[in-house]
Amino acid sequence: MTNKDIAMFNPTDWNLTEKQVDLTTRARELGESKFAARAEKYDREAIFPTENYVDLRDAGLLGVCIPEQFGGCGADFKTYMLTAAEIGRYCGATALTFNMHVSSCLWTGFLADQLPMEDELRAEHESYRKHHYARILNEGAIYAQPFSEGGAAAAGFKAFGTTALRTEKGWIINGKKIFASLSGHADYYGALCSEIQTPDEEPSRRHTMYIAVPNDAEGVSVVGDWDPLGMRGTVSRTLIFKDVFVPFEEQLMPRGIYFSAAQKWPHMFMTLTPSYMGIAQAAYDFTVKYLRGEIEGMPPVKRRMFPTKQLAVAQMRLMLEQTKALWFQSISEARPEPSKDAILRAWTAQYTVMENANEIAQLAIRTCGGQSMLRSLPLERLYRDSRCGSLMLPWTAELCMDKLGKGTLYEDGETDD
Ligand SMILES: Cc1cc2nc3c(=O)[nH]c(=O)nc-3n(C[C@H](O)[C@H](O)[C@H](O)COP(=O)(O)OP(=O)(O)OC[C@H]3O[C@@H](n4cnc5c(N)ncnc54)[C@H](O)[C@@H]3O)c2cc1C
Repeated sequence: MTNKDIAMFNPTDWNLTEKQVDLTTRARELGESKFAARAEKYDREAIFPTENYVDLRDAGLLGVCIPEQFGGCGADFKTYMLTAAEIGRYCGATALTFNMHVSSCLWTGFLADQLPMEDELRAEHESYRKHHYARILNEGAIYAQPFSEGGAAAAGFKAFGTTALRTEKGWIINGKKIFASLSGHADYYGALCSEIQTPDEEPSRRHTMYIAVPNDAEGVSVVGDWDPLGMRGTVSRTLIFKDVFVPFEEQLMPRGIYFSAAQKWPHMFMTLTPSYMGIAQAAYDFTVKYLRGEIEGMPPVKRRMFPTKQLAVAQMRLMLEQTKALWFQSISEARPEPSKDAILRAWTAQYTVMENANEIAQLAIRTCGGQSMLRSLPLERLYRDSRCGSLMLPWTAELCMDKLGKGTLYEDGETDD
């Protein structure tokens, strides 16, 4: 009998709620029993993890962040992050794409519920989200989140170049989104775009819209190939919107709310980290099993008695514990209008997870040795997948460093003039 993996965050030690224990357990059991074995094929063929999504739907996890009053699991920010990390342990590409899907519910659910809205705006928001949540829960609809465009918009420095022209009956969307995970596989693309009233209007960040574009709408196309270093199962090809008409009810949020959420709820950008937190744990877990001679399908050769191996594992454990502790603190204190200290810590946590996941994976390969980097084992995939974390906008490792340095030395609005 194979031993079941233990929780990444022991419920007693980390003081998890019942819901957190339930959802993280469901995710881990699914990951261990189903996703782990499929990950190699998705990676090798760079194909979307369709079977995993069927399992996620059957386990009720497509609605993990849909509020309970709509029939979902009602996971808050922290509960979602802990759940997604358990998925990332077994298939990074599934966890990362799942994040794009879940964001459509987390942003419109838990986050939006904590933002101030006039009654009329709140009612408008209720009508939109009811429509999207019903699709997810009743039809198993999957949402993607095309954000990046290859310019400064995804980094948060410029308005999105993808535009939504307001007409009497709805929106006409035009633009190009690069690295659109789930492209060709999602049922809806939750596109970030700039509202304009006339075709030649200059877009503004304040007028960012979040609109679901059906995959089969006229004018939607997926172009280019997808043959990257890592996270290959995300199938993040380029999306083109050419005069795509979308009725008003496809909005995911009323006008102005996305901009307000991005300003007031900065931790929303941390949702890319759990995939990589899971990968860091997986690289560490693999190394321990390998050195103990417990890898399934390999001769039970132990390597744990060598002091150099013990030292390397100690180094990995230090890094993993530091990363988990900082990440856990940061996801625990996430809230609207966090303190400056909490924001600086969020950037620190983001940087730490993304860089340490790769550092732990490379230490794992060095420590386990040549056989561990064969493609028959998961470590080389973890190594490649882990390298992608620092590249994810808007909080890339570089931008986190920029923000941290500037944020530490300057108060809001301060200049040297
Ligand atoms: C596996 C994977 C899946 C992805 N999935 C999605 C997805 O589903 N949806 C989505 O929208 N995006 C997705 N992305 C895209 C990701 O967030 C980046 O936008 C993408 O990697 C493209 O980056 P780029 O090289 O064009 O960035 P560039 O804009 O060229 O930036 C390159 C680097 O320069 C730095 N930089 C950028 N702007 C500034 C600035 N103004 N000041 C200082 N430094 C700056 C940043 O560190 C950045 O990493 C995914 C990326 C990967 C790797």
